[in-house]
Amino acid sequence: MPNSHANSHTLLRVDNITFAYEQMRMQFDLAVNRGETLAILGASGSGKSTLLNLIAGFNQPLSGDICFQEESILAKAPAQRPITTLFQEHNLFNHLTVKQNIAIGLAPNMKLDADQQTALEKAAQQVEITELLNRLPGDLSGGQRQRVGIARCLARKQPLLLLDEPFSALDPALRQEMLRLIAKLNKAHSITVLMVTHNPDDALQIADNIAFVADGKIALHASTAILADENAPEVLKRYLGKR
Ligand code: ADP
Ligand code: MG
Repeated sequence: MPNSHANSHTLLRVDNITFAYEQMRMQFDLAVNRGETLAILGASGSGKSTLLNLIAGFNQPLSGDICFQEESILAKAPAQRPITTLFQEHNLFNHLTVKQNIAIGLAPNMKLDADQQTALEKAAQQVEITELLNRLPGDLSGGQRQRVGIARCLARKQPLLLLDEPFSALDPALRQEMLRLIAKLNKAHSITVLMVTHNPDDALQIADNIAFVADGKIALHASTAILADENAPEVLKRYLGKR
C-alpha cells in the first residue's frame, strides 16, 4: 500500500525506495507530515540507520524517489538537502572550539556572515551553551557535547532533523533533558523530527507516531499510542517483549 499516510500536509515522502547491502535487501515507503515527530523503532540490524542515511543522502537508493514538499531531493548532495543529522557520537571535531564546531555546519571555511553569526548565537542560547563557546569538546561533559551537536543542527535552520540514537549513551536524567529539548524545538520552531531510538519510552515521551522497521521494511507506521495497545500487531508486541 504505497504512501497510505501521504496527504497535503506531507513534508517528506519516501516513495518506494530500494537499497541493498550484500545480504540484505531493503525497501522503504514513508510519508512524514510537517511538524511531526516520528520515532523509528526496530531491532538492531533492521535497517533504521540505512533509512536515515538514504533520506540524508549518505546512501543513494537503487530505485524509487525521496521528495521534500513534493520535489525530488535525490540529485542533491547531503549538504544541499533541507536536512540536518545528529548521530550518537562523532558529531564534533575535537581540535575545533565549540563555536567553530557550530560554524562549520554553516560554512565549510567557518567564515560567517552577519546572519550566520546571529544564527549561531541564537542556537547557542537556545541550548544554553553560550558560556561554552570557546571551549574544546574534550573539556565538556557528554550532555554538553550533545547540546553542541543540537546547536549546530539548529543554527543550520533546516526544517527536517534526523536523529540516529543520539542520546543512548547518556545517563537517564540527561536523556530526559535532551528529549525535552528536542520536543521544545519541535514545537517552537516547527522542526519535523525523525528519531531512531531503541527505547520505546523515548517514543512515548515525544513522538506523535512510530515507524517500526523490520527486515529492511517499515512493518508498521502508526500513532505512538499503539505501543501501549493490547491489540497491537504481534511483530511489535514481540519486539516490545510483551509476549
Ligand atoms: P539498524 O540501524 O537498524 O541497526 P542498519 O541500517 O545499520 O540497521 O543496518 C541494516 C543492515 O545492513 C544490517 O544487516 C547491517 O549489517 C547492514 N549494513 C549496514 N551498514 C552496512 C555497510 N556499510 N556495509 C554492509 N552492510 C551494512
Ligand atoms: Mg543504527
